[in-house]
Amino acid sequence: MAFLIISPTGKKYLFDAGARKDYWNYSPMIRERFRKGVNVGGMRVTKGVAELLREGGVGVEEGEVEGVFWSHWHFDHIGDMSTFPSSTKIIVGPGFSDAMLPGYPANPDSPLLESDYVNHEMQELTFTTPLEIGGFRAIDYFADGSLYILDVPGHAIGHICALVRTTPDTFVLLGADACHFAGSLRPSVWVPLPESVTREELGEVQGGGCPCEDFLVSHPRGKEGRIKPWYSASRTPGSAYADWRVADRSVEKLRGFDACVDVLVCLAHDPGVGEVLPVFNGEGIKGGGIGKWKERGWKEKLRWRFLGELPRMVGGEGGKGRGWVRGREPIVEGWWRGGKRVGVEEALRRDGEE
Ligand SMILES: [Zn+2]
Repeated sequence: MAFLIISPTGKKYLFDAGARKDYWNYSPMIRERFRKGVNVGGMRVTKGVAELLREGGVGVEEGEVEGVFWSHWHFDHIGDMSTFPSSTKIIVGPGFSDAMLPGYPANPDSPLLESDYVNHEMQELTFTTPLEIGGFRAIDYFADGSLYILDVPGHAIGHICALVRTTPDTFVLLGADACHFAGSLRPSVWVPLPESVTREELGEVQGGGCPCEDFLVSHPRGKEGRIKPWYSASRTPGSAYADWRVADRSVEKLRGFDACVDVLVCLAHDPGVGEVLPVFNGEGIKGGGIGKWKERGWKEKLRWRFLGELPRMVGGEGGKGRGWVRGREPIVEGWWRGGKRVGVEEALRRDGEE
């Protein structure tokens, strides 16, 4: 998920830029991870963010998009900056330049490409003011209280989130990859699991309710799962988390934001965000954006939708046996290139490579 932010004075910024359309042109290090299936089992990118913006009536020419915040360096957040003019700057979190630069080919093992950034001014944020929000160090980016950038470490070096004011007293927190699944945020002591949810809340066809007991069978804490999230950061070496202890502390603080009725937390990898909130793709800003999320009730609609991705127990009526069913199917399966599903080797062949 990438977000277009428009400041009170009309300045346009992106928070993240998705994946590049020609994903086979990422650096050799990233392509090698793809080949080995590390954190990624397939890709289908039909349009880049710049293309989507243009289609939706937002220009990306010189002077249009002031800057792109890279929440962190992972390939599915940095987009393709060559599709933006050099006047669009890149804003990164603390420690980024020391740890990540230079890119490939100057550093053959880098996940970044030099071409990702050399034509753009890069601004690295430093959190030096005493401002803190919800336990995170913060920067009042426009100095008017409309956009706070938060230092949210753990997932990757320089990982940042954005707290965007949507009305005088409501905010959207762009959580990036602080965690990847809403079941890492919820349930919590502040947002306990209800007795049951409706099919609609699960994003399924309308129908009767579904007892939450049926989901709790997959919860590592059993009954205690009513007030504990399903997941914590992975402790497996080589996982997507740079430091799981720090990541868990960051997510614990995010649960406080999630519990607040005036804050909508949007994780970059929560499919419900793209299903419940209006997306820019094809709609442009005409859709009105997500600023009115509170009066539209989108936080409530999004809250338990992730349960639909979990396995659940079914059956048992009339003496029939109970058994598991899988959660929702993945949105993308396999490698897609030129509108066709292809094998991984064909998917990763660079332009012009035999
Ligand atoms: Zn990431």
